[in-house]
This record gives sequence, structure tokens and C-alpha cells, in this order.
Amino acid sequence: MGSTVERHRHHHDLVPLAALISREMRSEKMEKPTVRYGHAAQSRKGEDYFLMKTDCQRVQGNPSSSFSVFAIFDGHNGNAAATFSRDHLLNHVLSAIPRALGRDEWLQALPRALVAGFVKTDKEFQSKGQTSGTTVTFVIVDRWTVTVASVGDSRCILDTQGGAVTDLTVDHRLEENIAERERVTASGGEVGRLSIVGGVEIGPLRCWPGGLCLSRSIGDMDVGEFIVPIPYVKQVKLSNVGGRLIIASDGIWDALSSEKAAKSCRGLPAELAARQVVKEALRTRGLKDDTTCIVVDIIPPDNSVQPLPPPKKQNKFRALLFRKKSQDSATKLSKKLSAVGIVEQLFEEGSAMLAERLGNDEPSDQTTPGLFMCAVCPVDLAASEGISVHAGSIFSTSSKPWQGPFLCADCRNKKDAMEGKRPSGVKVV
Ligand SMILES: [Zn+2]
Repeated sequence: MGSTVERHRHHHDLVPLAALISREMRSEKMEKPTVRYGHAAQSRKGEDYFLMKTDCQRVQGNPSSSFSVFAIFDGHNGNAAATFSRDHLLNHVLSAIPRALGRDEWLQALPRALVAGFVKTDKEFQSKGQTSGTTVTFVIVDRWTVTVASVGDSRCILDTQGGAVTDLTVDHRLEENIAERERVTASGGEVGRLSIVGGVEIGPLRCWPGGLCLSRSIGDMDVGEFIVPIPYVKQVKLSNVGGRLIIASDGIWDALSSEKAAKSCRGLPAELAARQVVKEALRTRGLKDDTTCIVVDIIPPDNSVQPLPPPKKQNKFRALLFRKKSQDSATKLSKKLSAVGIVEQLFEEGSAMLAERLGNDEPSDQTTPGLFMCAVCPVDLAASEGISVHAGSIFSTSSKPWQGPFLCADCRNKKDAMEGKRPSGVKVV
């Protein structure tokens, strides 16, 4: 109605908000790292897709809330699942985050939103009835915090400036991942090798029916729903010397170890580094598969702590990576030594059980988007429709069946199917 009271309130709000933003912008200049990135690929089957988006905003219209997304989708049985995930996954993840959160709360909400977004994308794609699947390695870079969610075997590694290389993903391959093998078998899948004439078994372990080598993916409706879309999620905070991410499809990792890939491109700027990793993989193994690589450098701002002097022969590389400023004194440097290479792990969870991944909503939790909202979709539910993710069944006397998060009937069916509680492909009406 535009009453005086209302106008007055608006006016009152504007001043501190503007001050807040300008304060945030000022502190950002000090704290915000520069993100540089590059991409390279060699295609064989045309089933690798990627996403590089550096203009995302947590708060629309506020550039200081910006974050970046980098992702690789390695499709199989066609490219439909890969392109669908590339086009929809980001939106599904973001819509699962409660509105109006500050940066820290938003980052804390990300791991659960990633799980919801992956499951929703899988559900939506499967409802289209197309028989294709894809790996997803999805990386969100918000200042110094890196959050990675992945299904399948497209790896993301971190090369810190101390020279330590760490994997930020696990490979969901039946051949190598015993825990996943056990889960798939317990949920009703059969794991074995391809047998050829004469009963000779060849190749890696696969899941039957379908013959997929992966234990998690998006899509793959013909393989069985125990091949789940629930991602392994890891969140780390880099120290203020920054670091380099290498995200790549298995065309790279079948040829190069994480260590080797990192070493092969040290010192090169991101775009050249990505090309170098692909080149190195092709040199080692030839072009046997789609081979895609994204390199992301998270670089300290000029006025922050300078990187360490490089150990031995890496001198020229570091000069390339970081704009050199005046050399620090020896004492200053030795102090900084202790701070370098420390990566703080904020979150890690790889369980394939949806209930474990969605956690508990406290009834008093103000950040809950709504008591009766499906934690996956997220659609509004009538009071009678919501089924607690923790309830064994509608009729069970679970310890906390009234406690959220809740699922709609459709997502509840999906959850049961992923846990092998009903045969896959059977529609529950
Ligand atoms: Zn739902």
C-alpha cells in the first residue's frame, strides 16, 4: 500500500545494507582469490561434456556473492544423460538450498543440496525413458572453499602449492571399490565379469543386468536402481596460497595417476596446463576414449601472502603461476612455511543411503525451507503427504517418524528402489 511506515522502513534498511555491501566489497579485495581456468579435450565417442560457469551469484545482483562451477559429464550408451545433467543439475542443486543464507551457512547447506540435486536430476532423466547414463564430477568454487560432488569415475584432484596431490573424489568403479561392490550385491545387483565363448571371463567387474562398470551414475534406468546417483561429497578450504584443481574424465585417469597428471602441467597457466594433461595422456595411452580435462587455478590476490619460493627446479613455474612481488625476507618466509600446504577439510561423506545424507531437521531449525517440503524435489507437501526419510515404512514405528526431512511418495519410492527394497523397474502406484 506504500504507507509512510513502509517507506520509512525501506529507507531505514537501505543505509546499513549499502554500507554492508561496500564493506564486503572492500574486504573482498583483500580476501577473494582469482580463479583462472582452462579446458582441453580429444573426442572419440562424443560422450564427454563439460560445464564452466564463473558468473553464478548466491544473491542475485550482488557481485560479491559470486561463485564458480566446473563440471565434467562422461556419458555412456549415448549422450542424453550427460547433456541433460549439464543443463539441469546446477539449477536443481541451487533450488535445494534454503533462501537468504549468508556465505557460511550457504556453504554448509551445499553438501545436502548436492545430494538432493543429483537425485532429482536422476529421477527426472529416468522419467524420460531414455537408456543412457553419465558420470558427474561437479565442483563449486566459492573463494577459498572448494566443494566437490561426484558419481562415477571422473576424478577431481587438488595440487596444493606445497606439492602435495590429493584426490577430492573417490572412483565409483566396481573393480576397485570393494565397499560399493558389497552395497550393490546387498541391494540385489549381480557383479561379475563379461564371459566370452568357452566361459572365459574378461574385462573389469560389471553390474548385471546392464553390464555397467560403475556403481554410481546419473541415468542408467536399464541397469538397476542400486546404481545410485547419490554423490560422494568433499568440501575443503584452501590456505591462502591457493591451489590447482584438475578435473578430468577417465580417458585421462586410465593413462595417468593423479600425481603424474599434476606434475605434468605444473607451472603452466590453466589453459596450457589442460592441453598438456590431455597431450600427456594421449602420449601414454593413445586416444582410446573421450579425454576431457579442466584445470582451475585458485590464485591469491596480489596483496595477500606470497607463495613460497619453489623447491628446487620448480622456480620458473611458480614465477609463471603467480605474479611476483618483492621478495620477502628470510624470517618472514620461514614463518609462512608452516602455513603453507594446509588444506582444511570441512566436510566428507560418501554413503549411498539417502537417509544418512539428508540428515535430521530439527523441528526448530529456522533454515528449513518448510516443514512439509520434499527434501529432494523440492515440492510442497500437504501435511498428510510427507513421509519422514527416517521412517522404515508408513506403518513402522520409527523412533522419529515426525522428524524431517520429508520425502514425497515418489521420492520415497525412489529411495526404496535405491536401497534394493523393491525390484527395480517396478512402478509403485
Ligand atoms: Zn520428492
